[in-house]
Amino acid sequence: MDAAPRPFAELPVDPELSLPVPFAAGTDVGYGDRPVGSVLSARDLDKRRVTQCALSRTCGVCGAGLGRPLAFLGTRAELDRMAFHLPASHVECAQALLAAYDGAPGPLLGLDDPPSEWVLVTTASFEFVRPAKGDADRRPVFSPNGLLTTQPG
Ligand SMILES: [Zn+2]
Repeated sequence: MDAAPRPFAELPVDPELSLPVPFAAGTDVGYGDRPVGSVLSARDLDKRRVTQCALSRTCGVCGAGLGRPLAFLGTRAELDRMAFHLPASHVECAQALLAAYDGAPGPLLGLDDPPSEWVLVTTASFEFVRPAKGDADRRPVFSPNGLLTTQPG
């Protein structure tokens, strides 16, 4: 069963980091669809949720349906590759997540780099790219089709 969307203010909280755990990282009992004993963590993404977000055009932060523009929050290296691991989200959701995560100690959300410098970009659409056989990075990524805005520039 799919977990219900949650407004940002009602996201479950990582007990170690005291950070809100976005929908795409929701490996927790807080969403009610995980076995008892699962650990609630903002350290990593939930592969199943990431795929669900991509295929259903669901916000990776709150879990509700997406409109346009779409936002991607990630690292400078992800921007350079135009390959983000955190699914697309509402612009407001990405901004709220950035405000909460800025300065938090890594690793966070399965990102490769310590996110000392977050970037937030907006786009109108994206491609969902599954890893090819032999790729070192076995995770799917989201590739924006052009950028509308980038912050910081
Ligand atoms: Zn959202």
